[in-house]
Amino acid sequence: MSIETAPPGYSHTPVRAIGNNLSLDFINTADWNGAGEVIHEKLAAPDDIEIWLDKLGIRGLASPLGNLSLEELRAYRRDMREVVLSLYRGHAPKPERLQQVLSPMCDGPSLVPQASGIGYAPTATLQQLVAMHAASMFSAPATRKQLKMCRGDDCGWFFLDQSKTGRRVWCCMETCGNRAKARRFSARAKEKEKRAAI
Ligand SMILES: [Zn+2]
Repeated sequence: MSIETAPPGYSHTPVRAIGNNLSLDFINTADWNGAGEVIHEKLAAPDDIEIWLDKLGIRGLASPLGNLSLEELRAYRRDMREVVLSLYRGHAPKPERLQQVLSPMCDGPSLVPQASGIGYAPTATLQQLVAMHAASMFSAPATRKQLKMCRGDDCGWFFLDQSKTGRRVWCCMETCGNRAKARRFSARAKEKEKRAAI
């Protein structure tokens, strides 16, 4: 979802968790152009991570960044996107890249027993959680088949299409879907004008 005029970060942009998998929602913390470059950054400051986690209902992590700098976390996001993009295109990802994006799972326990069952360990990092959710998606062929990229221009968001019809094409109807609708409407209006002028 491209909001070029909005400042970076989540202060003026709502958090939209539409990916149906945490690793995809993590990728969607930026808008991407067709060349795979970030054109709108939502993780502009550590506070943005807190806002994002809170909106996703993930609370109680002592240090979401762990030992990483924000820049390193963004580099990890780019690498994760590269793997997901390979899967989306039906290609095998580079083995070393796959290994690299999943390796944070081994950094320590990310799940612990809690009064209500099982929850995230307070010591877990965001990178660990993302790696864990990515592994669960990568290892389930049925889930992999649902992997789609939004058709919106300069969006590049990924989601698992869990709709009944399996025909979801937009990240969010309110943003990319409506923009496409408006474009179609204006193209039709222009076409009508042209015909009327003949
Ligand atoms: Zn979109």
